[in-house]
Amino acid sequence: MIQPSLRTFPVLILGGGTAGISVAARLVKALPAGSVAVVDPSAHHDYQPLWTLVGGGDARREATRRRQADVIPKGVTWIQQAVTEVRPDEREVTLASGERLRYEQLVVALGIQLDWDKVDGLREALGTEGVCSNYSWDTVESTWRAIQGFRGGAAHFTHPNTPIKCGGAPQKIMYLAAEYWQKHRPAQPYDVRFRIASPKIFAVERYAKTLLEVVARHGIDVVYQRDLVALRPRSREAVYKDLATGAEVIEPYAMIHVTPPMSAPDVLKQSPLAASTGWVEVDKATLQHVRYPDVFALGDCSNLPTSKTGAAIRKQAPTAATNVLDVRAGRAPSAVYDGYTSCPLVTGYGKLVLAEFDYDGRAQETFPFDQSKERRSMYWLKKHLLPTLYWSGMLKGRA
Ligand code: FAD
Repeated sequence: MIQPSLRTFPVLILGGGTAGISVAARLVKALPAGSVAVVDPSAHHDYQPLWTLVGGGDARREATRRRQADVIPKGVTWIQQAVTEVRPDEREVTLASGERLRYEQLVVALGIQLDWDKVDGLREALGTEGVCSNYSWDTVESTWRAIQGFRGGAAHFTHPNTPIKCGGAPQKIMYLAAEYWQKHRPAQPYDVRFRIASPKIFAVERYAKTLLEVVARHGIDVVYQRDLVALRPRSREAVYKDLATGAEVIEPYAMIHVTPPMSAPDVLKQSPLAASTGWVEVDKATLQHVRYPDVFALGDCSNLPTSKTGAAIRKQAPTAATNVLDVRAGRAPSAVYDGYTSCPLVTGYGKLVLAEFDYDGRAQETFPFDQSKERRSMYWLKKHLLPTLYWSGMLKGRA
C-alpha cells in the first residue's frame, strides 16, 4: 500500500499556551516562512495569572481570554488538534485525527494536567455550594461567589501533595478572602484554615517570613503535611491525609477552595520523553532533552527543577529558541537558563510581595527596594502592567 507522504515541519511545537507561543514568536522571526507549526486544539488562550484576582472579585474573567487565532504569531501554521502520541525515535507525532506529522526539531510545551479525579467526590462537588477553585476557566467564577456567599463556619484553602503551577496561588486567594471577610463580616463566627501538603509555607525563606506574618495578621490556622483526599459535599466534610502519620483526618467545612493535584499530561507520561516522574526530561541549563537532542521542552510540562510559572517561561523561551536554532545550525546549544522564576504573592487587596528567585533559591529581584515586603505598587504591577507585558511583549517574542 502506498503511504501518503507525511507533513513535515522544520520546527514543530506541541502546545500553544504561554510557553509554546512565546517560543513560536521568537523562532518564526529567525526561520524561513513555513518553518514553524504549533499543535493545540484549544480555540482560546488564557492569561491564567489573573485568575487569582478574578476569584477575588478584582478582575473580570473575560479579560483573561483571547482567541487562539489572534495569538498565534503571523507566519506560524496552527494545527488545531490534540497530539495523542509522541514517537521521538521516528521524529513523529500522531494527532487525534489520526494524522501523523514529522519534525526536524520538536519543542514540547503541553503544560500541566489538572487531576480533579484524584480527590474523591471533587469533580461532582465543584461549583456546588461552597466548593470552588481558581484553577480553571470553568470554575474560577465559583470562587468569588463562594467568598461573597460565605456566612460563617470553617473556610478551607488547600494545597496538594504534587507539583502545581504557581505554587503561591493556593494561598493568594486565601489572603484576599480573609481580607474581604474582615471588611464584610459573615453573619456567623468563622475561621480560615490553610491545609498544605508541604512542610513549609513557601520554599524560599526570605518570602516565607513575610507570608507567616500575613497568616498571623489574619489569625489563619495553618496545618502542614495535610493533603485533601476526598470531599463529602452532603455532610460538608473534607477528608485529609496526615502525611506525617498516614492518619485520616475529617474536618467540617462551610466553604472550600481546592487546588487540585496535578501531573504531566498523560500523552507525555506515556512517551519515551518522560523522566520517571512523567515530566519531560531535559537538561536544566539548555532545555535540550537528555536522550533526544532534537527535542526541547519548557514550561509546566518540563522537569526543570524550578517553580512552574509564566514568569519562569519568560526566561526559558529565549533560551529554548536560541538553542533550537543552534542545533539546526549544527552547533551545541549556547544559551543557558538559570532557574529564574517569579511568584507575585498577593497578600491582600492592593498588597503584594514580588518573589523572584533562581534554582538555588537565591533572590533575583528586579527592583532596587526590598521585594520581600508587601507593596501596593507591586499589586498594581500584577493587575495592570504584567497582563500588557504578557499579551504585547512575551507572546510577541519581545519580552
Ligand atoms: P499552558 O499555558 O497551560 O499551555 C498548555 C497548552 O497546551 C494549552 O494551550 C493546551 O490547550 C495545550 N495542550 C494540552 N494538551 C494538549 C495536547 N494533547 N495536544 C496539543 N495541545 C495540548 N504564573 C505566573 O508567572 N505568575 C502568576 O501570578 C501566576 N498565577 C497563577 C494563578 C493561577 C490560578 C494559575 C492556574 C496559574 C498561575 N500561573 C502564574 C502559572 C502560569 O499560568 C503557568 O505556569 C503557565 O501558563 C504555563 O505555561 P505552559 O505553556 O507550560 O502551559
